[in-house]
Amino acid sequence: MYQDLEIHENTVRLIEEAEEKCRDQFKKIDRMIYKNSLKVLASFHKNEITESHFNATTGYGYSDLGRDGIEKVFADVLGAERALVRSQFISGSHALTVCFFALLRPGDLLLSISGKPYDTLDEVIGIEENPSSLKSFGISYDQIELVNNDFDYEKIEEYLKNHKVKVIEIQRSKGYSTRKSIGIEKVEKVISLIKKVDPNVIVMVDNCYCEMVEDKEPTEVGTDVMVGSLIKNLGGGIAPNGAYIAGRSDLIDLCAERLTLPGEGAEVGPTLGINKQILQGIFMAPSVVGSALKTAVLTSCVLENLGYDVEPSYQEDRVDIVQNIIFHDPKKLVSFTRGIQQGSPIDSNALVEAWDMPGYQDKVVMASGSFTQGSSIELSCDGPMREPYIAYMQGGLTYDYGKLGLMKAVDNLIHL
Ligand SMILES: *Cc1c(COP(=O)(O)O)cnc(C)c1O
Repeated sequence: MYQDLEIHENTVRLIEEAEEKCRDQFKKIDRMIYKNSLKVLASFHKNEITESHFNATTGYGYSDLGRDGIEKVFADVLGAERALVRSQFISGSHALTVCFFALLRPGDLLLSISGKPYDTLDEVIGIEENPSSLKSFGISYDQIELVNNDFDYEKIEEYLKNHKVKVIEIQRSKGYSTRKSIGIEKVEKVISLIKKVDPNVIVMVDNCYCEMVEDKEPTEVGTDVMVGSLIKNLGGGIAPNGAYIAGRSDLIDLCAERLTLPGEGAEVGPTLGINKQILQGIFMAPSVVGSALKTAVLTSCVLENLGYDVEPSYQEDRVDIVQNIIFHDPKKLVSFTRGIQQGSPIDSNALVEAWDMPGYQDKVVMASGSFTQGSSIELSCDGPMREPYIAYMQGGLTYDYGKLGLMKAVDNLIHL
């Protein structure tokens, strides 16, 4: 049977042995899928989602019943006052950018308390020069590093006492760094500290890859505004593009007026026929996130058994869907990533090479054999070509396809 996929028998054995060790983790993940499914179903009921919500608007997109229903569902699922869920957001990075420009004014100070933010934000903030950066508008930026994978609570308190900070950014998922991702308990703890020192600071969370992994979202523990991508967790592998911003109503208004225009805000924005896909996406999201998590746990176990450094380990509780394998070797990183591409449904015949990507400073090697371009809730793997050559693997629309993709990647690695 495996001959059709050109996978060696010893690889299959390795994976199946590891699978047995993952049973307890899988049970925990199943409970989370169930909890989140309950949340989603209840919000569909509460907001009386009907077939008419699937209708499309064009042009200005006034009175889009479906769009309004979707935004209520997202707000309820995320425990937020309001949400802005739009296909006019090009990506998660775009939604983060809109959020920054919506909340900050010349002379304001932006502070990151989780170290350097995601690579694509370098030029947005002005860490790398760009004539359209926040910096070019006179908005300053500072950052406080994490210590031992946790916030530097003392330094944050000290900083807030000595500076007038407008927005604090927290990035939960590790991005292309070697740190651990930040769990919801730590987010809650640091927010209560921040609000005690300065209740006016706006706390903004980059929640990419973290939705529906733990039983609470940042907006349920005091986050003012939170951002995520629809080609990651909450799109459920079905949303064709877009992103969301959720949080306090007054801040969502500001974000809407920056995305569209002052005076029209959230009341415009045609949906052009994607409402059904967005609704179906969030409906499937609990289960799809669960499949991605199981794929990540299995990957961690198999690669650890093979002697590689992995983060997190398969027994650890997870914060996001990302699995790191630290290869310390460019050839191994590329060969594993190639295998993920070969085990994907689309473009499986493509031979992956590292290349220069817009928004990133190092060359990046990337496997994305997905139905939606660049989707990383679908099985995907990427890594910057720099020490210590880490593969960031994530996604898997179903566990079985995730497992088969992993087999292909491990096979490639073993027979390098
Ligand atoms: C994916 C991701 C983003 C946004 O990425 P896009 O590719 O622009 O959607 C931002 N922050 C983190 C931590 C991410 O993982």
